[in-house]
Amino acid sequence: MLDDDLTRRAAEATRALGLDRLATRLRVEWNPRLRTSAGRAWPGQDRIELNPAIARFGEDEVRRTLLHELAHLIARHRAGRRRIAPHGVEWRRACTELGIPGEAARHRLPLEPVRQRRRFAYHCPACGAVVRRARRLRTEAACLRCCRAHAGGRFDRRFRLIESTA
Ligand SMILES: [Zn+2]
Ligand SMILES: [Zn+2]
Repeated sequence: MLDDDLTRRAAEATRALGLDRLATRLRVEWNPRLRTSAGRAWPGQDRIELNPAIARFGEDEVRRTLLHELAHLIARHRAGRRRIAPHGVEWRRACTELGIPGEAARHRLPLEPVRQRRRFAYHCPACGAVVRRARRLRTEAACLRCCRAHAGGRFDRRFRLIESTA
């Protein structure tokens, strides 16, 4: 999906660098099919794709990713037919001009704290120990501590974990 607002912002930043032709052609789109990358640049098509997931990380992250990808278009545009490294000096220079000096050469999404919800609780009928799991236990499980203490470490039904009702 084309984003008019981001396209306009990218065009303004590009025009400010005197690259009118690129400014009038470029467009910024959201691509929900991007998985691990925050964004992608398609210099041949003057197109930037952003992963909708970055919106969760706030306006700053969207802006930074947009400028990172725009720097790729600018570096490529200026290089013409000359070969350049994707994150080489030309790209770094464009980053500095766009206001993100020292930008990292990465495209991956920022890491989210993985908050695993442990919804299922079990307890040992012998010692009362409580075990929490994100998923329901599919096979019979026994209290490890009690099995070690009283059954030589082998599974013993006496210490079978019982699902607690939370
Ligand atoms: Zn990059
Ligand atoms: Zn136990």
